Amino acid sequence: MSAVRRRLENARHRIGAGRRTPPGHPLRLVVEKATWLDDAQSAVMLSIDDLTNAWHDRGGGRRWEQGGDWGGGLRGDGSALRFLEERLLADFPQVRTTFFTVAGPISPYTRHQPFSFAAALDASGESRRFFRAIADDPRFELAYHGYNHGTPGVETAAFLQEFRGFESLDAAVEQTRRGIEIFTQAIGRAPRGGKYGGWDYNEFGDAAVDACGFQWWCRDWTPRDVTGVIPDAYYEPQLFGRGGVIALPTTVHGRFWTHGQVERLLACRQLIAVEEHIAPVRPDGLVQTPNIVDDIDELRALFAYLRSKDVWYATGSEVAAYVAARERTTVHDVAADGFAVSYVGGVPRPRLTLRVNCASPGTTDATAVRLTQPDGTVVDASRDGSHHGVQTRLFTIDVMDGRYRVASVPA
Ligand SMILES: [Zn+2]
Repeated sequence: MSAVRRRLENARHRIGAGRRTPPGHPLRLVVEKATWLDDAQSAVMLSIDDLTNAWHDRGGGRRWEQGGDWGGGLRGDGSALRFLEERLLADFPQVRTTFFTVAGPISPYTRHQPFSFAAALDASGESRRFFRAIADDPRFELAYHGYNHGTPGVETAAFLQEFRGFESLDAAVEQTRRGIEIFTQAIGRAPRGGKYGGWDYNEFGDAAVDACGFQWWCRDWTPRDVTGVIPDAYYEPQLFGRGGVIALPTTVHGRFWTHGQVERLLACRQLIAVEEHIAPVRPDGLVQTPNIVDDIDELRALFAYLRSKDVWYATGSEVAAYVAARERTTVHDVAADGFAVSYVGGVPRPRLTLRVNCASPGTTDATAVRLTQPDGTVVDASRDGSHHGVQTRLFTIDVMDGRYRVASVPA
């Protein structure tokens, strides 16, 4: 043993001899918020736009053509939902899909080329049952995508996106409340989040979203750039409005994704939010891109690539609730026996994973601990983690104001 090392060993023994606390008791607590649930590297959210009670057949037939179902085909043979389930979700059951849903009858792009069929979500018992079954399915979420998506033009280029066209805040709120009412009639509850149609909006958009009580919203199409020209933080969620609406970025194109893009998102622990549409066939004769039908091979390759990654598959509301827990919670007054939490977010009692290190100084051992929440419920460690070489315990707490107590558990 070298002289230096011997001196260090002696010093450590002297510190140990002076301890008053019983062996195994945490001497010092370090608490950190994990970026995602259970300390996953990234959250993964499949977004599919424009699911609604409509379908189209360019030949004027009495049933949708292949690729022409936008949701009005319900669960029929050749429907969009059946395609998604059979061609993608059957092999990737872990995937969580958020459908951005138009509540009222969706507008065509042009006045003279209507959809073969377009109705509100709650138009019939059949349609209500279909959309409610999707909303109740833990694999799916129905989010809001407008009352009608916009106003048709004399040609496609003249189509005016819904949140671009409102002439006042009152008009935006009034029409959005009408859409929410239809949505609620159909599925039994209001949507928690949504997305601007065509990623387009004017100065009344954000205030209307906030006034209508949404918890989260997709405002901007921000595919992950890997050239380094744009700062990393550009792809983080943000807050807007007085209600603290969480703006979620959309970072990956369902067809033109690259390994570099996904790796960069993983390395930065950022949201992998994939952009897609429900159907290729449009009444104006153009192809809606990206769409799940044309991109099915690229989507399968993406989810196969993610299989070996430590990711958390979540819906928009699950992602937003976690972001609220992470960004709107303060962990403070950390002592050896616990810590306090203050929360100001709009999502009630979200879950938050904490990395808790209660190793004694100078060791890398994490003591077995139990965590008791302010309401008396006990949380067990979900798994052991390792952060910068130091062992930690992961606890997923229900976020509430008050003091969380940490106690060692006898071996
Ligand atoms: Zn859309």
